[in-house]
Amino acid sequence: MTSWIDDPAFAADRPFGPQTLPYGVVEGRDGPVVAVRVGDHALPLRPIAGAFGELAELVSADSLDPLLAAGRPVWSALRARLRELVTATAPPDGAVLLADARNLLPFTVGDYVDFYSSRDHAENVGRMFRPDSDPLLPNWTHLPVGYHGRAGTVVVSGTDIVRPHGQRKGDDGPVFGPSGRLDVEAEIGFVCGGPVARRVSTSAAPDHIFGVAVVNDWSARDIQAWEYVPLGPFLGKSFGTSIGAWITPLDAFAAARVPVPDPGHPRLDYLVEDQSWGLDIRLVVEWNGTVVSRPDFAGMAYSCAQQLAHLTVNGATVRPGDLFASGTVSGPERHQRGSFLELCWGGTEPITLDDGSERTFLADGDTVVITATAPGPDGSVVGLSEVRGTIVAAED
Ligand code: CA
Repeated sequence: MTSWIDDPAFAADRPFGPQTLPYGVVEGRDGPVVAVRVGDHALPLRPIAGAFGELAELVSADSLDPLLAAGRPVWSALRARLRELVTATAPPDGAVLLADARNLLPFTVGDYVDFYSSRDHAENVGRMFRPDSDPLLPNWTHLPVGYHGRAGTVVVSGTDIVRPHGQRKGDDGPVFGPSGRLDVEAEIGFVCGGPVARRVSTSAAPDHIFGVAVVNDWSARDIQAWEYVPLGPFLGKSFGTSIGAWITPLDAFAAARVPVPDPGHPRLDYLVEDQSWGLDIRLVVEWNGTVVSRPDFAGMAYSCAQQLAHLTVNGATVRPGDLFASGTVSGPERHQRGSFLELCWGGTEPITLDDGSERTFLADGDTVVITATAPGPDGSVVGLSEVRGTIVAAED
């Protein structure tokens, strides 16, 4: 009998072999069920819950919420059991092709925070939005700048994005209407779990980070540019944030850890205790099927551990289901820019897609797909599931 890992679709050199095993929730015959992705299949866990012993109840839930709350020892035990199952001689019953599965938002999003931790992105945006001053504000090199986003409009990959309305600056005062500068931000998101905690140190951060997913922080640049001073992004961002349907456990990234780049100046102690949580994740951004950018996450100036330490250093709690995103991932080269604002330099440098059409910002009907991979153990590749979204016309 053929084992799952003998099947090329599940092989370890593919991004969704037994080295990855991300969790999601799919619509089952009797409602939502927790599932694990193996190759191009979703394996619902409730029908085979008997194989999980004392974890049966956890895998029978209708969302990842109980698993997020269970904490790292349980996460490790479940992952070990799943690896046994998918490397057994026969695939368990009930696996369905991803194409036949309907993914749901896999967990209840608690608080949502978005950071701004790519130096290249921050400098590029600074140059465009504030051309007469230094591109980086003085705080940026000393703390991971962030803002609280809108948890209620985080949507699962595949959900259409309605072009937002809003105010923007006109020649004779503000004007109102559908955004004309709709954009993407390619980011990596971190899903929190474990016990409710405050003042999480960088070394304790992995006990409170369950997993990783690609995030697209859709951004209406015309709304954003008019509204963002002095309190930061608001309606230019809050209309929708897409997250990949499958959450890859942080445990899958052990071989992808890299040191955080040296900032070249001292930082406060709470940010430097553990600087080993940079991650060598490579993103790919496709616009209507044309690869337009390949941002490199390893160059980010602050790690997920530093971001979580900063997020809680004032005594604010982190709870299971909280989500924080890295900020747009951009590198120094044009083909590494993680937003179309940067890629097309504020709309002045259009790019040509494979179908011959030119773009600066998103048109109705456009589809953006962002994927990512990282090095896995023993030369394997760990995958992050795609985050996909299509723009539909603004409502009347
Ligand atoms: Ca962002």
